[in-house]
Amino acid sequence: VMNDKDSAVEIVLQGVVLCPQYLFIDNEWVGAVSGKTFPTIRPHDGKTVAQIAEADKIDVNRAVAAARRAFRRNSEWRLMTPSARGRLLHRFADLVERDADYLKTLETTDNGMVHTMTHIMVETAVNILRYTGGLADKIHGTTIPSDFEGLSYTLKQPVGVCGLILPWNAPILMFVNKVATALAAGCTVVVKPAEQTPLTALALVALLAEAGMPRGVVNVVTGYGPTAGAALTHHPHVAKISFTGSLEVGKLVLQAAGATNIKRVTLELGGKSPLVIFDDADLNVALPFATEGVFAHQGQVCMAASRLYVQAGVYDEFVRRAVEVAKNRKVGDPFLTETQSGPQDEERDQNRNLLKSRPGSERSHVATVIEIASKTTRLREQIFGPVQSIMRFETLDEVIDRANDTNYGLAAGVFTSDIQTALQFSNLVEAGTVWVNNYFAFGPHNPFGGFKDSGFGRENGIEGILEYLDTKTVNIAFPQTI
Ligand code: NAD
Repeated sequence: VMNDKDSAVEIVLQGVVLCPQYLFIDNEWVGAVSGKTFPTIRPHDGKTVAQIAEADKIDVNRAVAAARRAFRRNSEWRLMTPSARGRLLHRFADLVERDADYLKTLETTDNGMVHTMTHIMVETAVNILRYTGGLADKIHGTTIPSDFEGLSYTLKQPVGVCGLILPWNAPILMFVNKVATALAAGCTVVVKPAEQTPLTALALVALLAEAGMPRGVVNVVTGYGPTAGAALTHHPHVAKISFTGSLEVGKLVLQAAGATNIKRVTLELGGKSPLVIFDDADLNVALPFATEGVFAHQGQVCMAASRLYVQAGVYDEFVRRAVEVAKNRKVGDPFLTETQSGPQDEERDQNRNLLKSRPGSERSHVATVIEIASKTTRLREQIFGPVQSIMRFETLDEVIDRANDTNYGLAAGVFTSDIQTALQFSNLVEAGTVWVNNYFAFGPHNPFGGFKDSGFGRENGIEGILEYLDTKTVNIAFPQTI
């Protein structure tokens, strides 16, 4: 699907040629005003895949202006009924299914995600689009009994132009998640994909246009965070920012939102998620979840089970088996079906000193198990790599304190056959999602988001769409008696 032509790579999508060196603004492919481009690299072999348009503030302003025009009253978009918006998302889902193989290949090329995992990503993206498309005409206000003489009701109205800023670790999923919810709510958007992985966002917005999206509803500006990203977060006509990424940049987003026009903000940030295995757990079940929980996608998963607490009675046996699994993990070419762990771009690794490459697969890192003997060691940093830290614990009370001893609060897991233990842990652990006897189980109907420094606001589920709506109260006076 790719061919080198005079150093510019064209991406052919079902006969349509996408040129990644363009931005997508007002349903048109346009170059950056400066004419600047930057390379996107294939992490598998470090080769440049394509030159990408480098948007700056002036391009972001054009994109926001287009999104603002699309949001004006009486625009084609504003006149679309909620169910028509839902049908648009269903058509988009059909096209993602049609082009699934192409999108998976693009994701593995640009991101390094193993090809078998891109299958799950595309399937999940389609589920999200169908769920969210179905939700578009089911959001409504309430009528409220009130003490004044009249009728009191609320309307749920779209907040306006939204800036959607994406990370590099799950590009298709992040694009679909945020865009679908914003559109179901009736907003218009400007998407800023991560500079490391811009390709699938460009492919997906082309599919949205093919699905019949009116002009200016979804615009994509590729570029760097401190320039294109910051221009979005500071823009006075952007009503909301939905950001997924690191804690450090999340803080900058919050500052920019407060310093300008009181933007609504949702932040999906990092994690240091605990997974707890009790003596009474079925180890045959717990072991694969615990290892996939931290080694899947080379550990580059926000909710990775990076702190593993194992109860004393099964500790030695568990560590022995976990080391065995790590040793046998197949690392290498992400396009091969037998590969379990693909490449890890050194520049993207936050703690690369902790990681070692296996000979012959320089860009893939060995799955690593670390035993931590001290009870007082506090694991703070998100490694975002395949490092499983295993710690021994004795009691439920102790492990709840240790699980909560982190600034993050994205997810947690527990393996036990005792319902009391499962419920007590689920109630007391400080995390936005808790998995009992599984890890990563998820659907588009489940609200997802963080406690504490993992952020605020929720994506998915009915709560996800509320983040893109403002509530308006209408009070109409009329006499109660005649
Ligand atoms: P990052 O914070 O470096 O970048 C995220 C996005 O922000 C990129 O598009 C980047 O260009 C942009 N950006 C950078 N500086 C900016 C600025 N000053 N203003 C505006 N935008 C700016 O994160 P990353 O390395 O791409 O992603 C990895 C992080 O994302 C990890 O911490 C991971 O845990 C987190 N993550 C969280 C979730 C979740 O749902 N909670 C999901 C996936 C990833």
